[in-house]
Amino acid sequence: MDPLLHILLPVLFLLAIRMDPKMVLLYSPFAILPDFDALFGLHRAAFHSFIVAILIPLVLVAYSKYKRPEWLAASTLILFFLASHIVLDLGGVAFLWPFTTDMFYFDPEVTFKIQGGIAFDFNLDYGVRPFVEMGTTDFVSEYGFAAMFLGVLLAVVFRKEAKAAILSGLRIVKGFLYRYQE
Ligand SMILES: [Zn+2]
Repeated sequence: MDPLLHILLPVLFLLAIRMDPKMVLLYSPFAILPDFDALFGLHRAAFHSFIVAILIPLVLVAYSKYKRPEWLAASTLILFFLASHIVLDLGGVAFLWPFTTDMFYFDPEVTFKIQGGIAFDFNLDYGVRPFVEMGTTDFVSEYGFAAMFLGVLLAVVFRKEAKAAILSGLRIVKGFLYRYQE
């Protein structure tokens, strides 16, 4: 999945359940952090492993809960964004790295056949396959473009709401900039 969708999907979910937009935007970069393992030639392994994506943030959440309650919202968001990345990469991640580089994948698919009578077919393909280093990754995939197209369409239909959302987004960004200027 491309970075655009890795950020967009969890952000939209968190906004839909009415999380504080400021917090959501501030921590959203964690949603693409795992893909930086590509820098070490261990794409979909090093930072896509349960240690980085689940264990470390979970320890942080537990620590916040008992020792630093003021960190709890932030650490929960970090856990959510990192875990969402692994879930959205279901095409294959070496989740148990460094114990094994085998990639776990989960690929549900519904096919539709119209030739010789209409039939739906549900296929669930999952399992483990050997590690393959992915050289290039889509920066914006066809799904990313489809999401952008849908976004533009929605923005045109809901002009008033879109304008208000953009203005409040700008206000949040401005707020950050002022805060970190000092
Ligand atoms: Zn990834």
